[in-house]
Amino acid sequence: MTSETGKIFPQSVHGRYRSIKNRVNYLLLAIYFFGSWIRWDRGIGLPNQAIMIDLPARKGYFFGLQIWTDEIYYITIILILSAIILFVFTTLYGRLWCGYTCPQTVFTDLFIKIEIFFQGDRNNRIRFNESSLTKEKFIKKSSTYLTWLSLAFIFAFSWVAYFQDIFDLAINIVNFNLTFSTKIWLFSLTFTTYIFAGLLREKVCIHMCPYGRFQSAMIENDTKLVTYNHYRGDPRGKQVEQKSGDCIDCFRCVLVCPTGIDIRDGLQMECIGCGLCVDACNEVMEKVGKEKNLILYTSLNALKNGLVDEKIIKKIFKVKNLFYAAIFFVFSIFTINSLINKSDISISLIKERAPLFTMTPNGQIRNTFTLKIQNKSVKFRKLMVYVEELEPHEIRIQSETKCFEKKCLIDLESEAEDRFRIFIWSNSDSLHEKSFNLILQDTENGKIYKERNLFVFN
Ligand code: SF4
Ligand code: SF4
Repeated sequence: MTSETGKIFPQSVHGRYRSIKNRVNYLLLAIYFFGSWIRWDRGIGLPNQAIMIDLPARKGYFFGLQIWTDEIYYITIILILSAIILFVFTTLYGRLWCGYTCPQTVFTDLFIKIEIFFQGDRNNRIRFNESSLTKEKFIKKSSTYLTWLSLAFIFAFSWVAYFQDIFDLAINIVNFNLTFSTKIWLFSLTFTTYIFAGLLREKVCIHMCPYGRFQSAMIENDTKLVTYNHYRGDPRGKQVEQKSGDCIDCFRCVLVCPTGIDIRDGLQMECIGCGLCVDACNEVMEKVGKEKNLILYTSLNALKNGLVDEKIIKKIFKVKNLFYAAIFFVFSIFTINSLINKSDISISLIKERAPLFTMTPNGQIRNTFTLKIQNKSVKFRKLMVYVEELEPHEIRIQSETKCFEKKCLIDLESEAEDRFRIFIWSNSDSLHEKSFNLILQDTENGKIYKERNLFVFN
């Protein structure tokens, strides 16, 4: 319900869903604000921040895991899996993401709590908003805005800290020694957080976020949503009236709603599924001595057919939903397994095409290749390079490497990328071309890395 100025001032509420929302919010905020302070030792010269995207080095760090630019598809897979699980959850439980975990909701909720802390509950805030400027109004409003601004800056600082070491960033801020791009990021994120969470609030969900618009395509009659039980509640009116339903038309559910809607009008695009109206109505029902859950999480089918909770749960676990969930779990396990066991050496062997081959005076054929190696581990590596499935031959590497006729040794610094020009000789063959394996063997643990290519004879 809006004030005379058209602004929404949600009333405080206590109850089961408010308390779940608080816990989820504090947990998510703690992860976000403290995530970049966690340290992870990777050795000398490497970032020791557990979670970080090092843009200049084009690498992502997540505790012991490192993602290089050529592995960016992992991020794509994780985003697709997140979208699948979001769609499955929306089909089963409506907009739980919006109501409990969306950053816009979490920050807006925090900003509203700060507003309530300084200015009091709904009626006081409306009074402050609509009254002319007094000393009290000035102090309370400016305290609110300054705290919002500080929080918005902490949000921006924490975000930037996922892209550069948080201790260096803090020192650079104190010494006014920031790069131009860091200043731009800090300023724009502080500004947008302040505007989005402090001033625009529910307008972002209603007018800017596309998710609310297409959720109706995912919601079914068996989806559990925040619903007003109109069979029980209507006709609405004061208890003294004869033949009235259980709803006493107190508007408490409307007053607590962060998007200012009346859930009794049915499912609306503006409803973010936060459940605060459930808590509000339960408080009222308790006071008037009626059964709770006049507003509740239920499905339209369950409400119509008077189903109890177990039957609703059975109905939402349909073959289609289980199929989506199975796809999600199979791909998640596959992705996690692949991430954990991904190779710490990445190689690519590119054949030089001009010329395709060279004939030496003693009748041998030489092919030239470019070997690109990334050592993705934090350890120095010594690799033995040799060729398989191509006999007889000789191999040489153009650089400071040691070669002994058929084998060469190369050194790789930790987390480094290097290129080598490789020359391979083989005797002239009746074949036009022959495929072979270039083998790189770790001299320390014997682990083998292979790359296949073609040797051209004529
Ligand atoms: S109607 Fe209820 S569940 Fe929907 S946004 Fe408002 S308070 Fe939250
Ligand atoms: S809080 Fe409950 S009783 Fe009050 S108006 Fe809303 S539905 Fe009716």
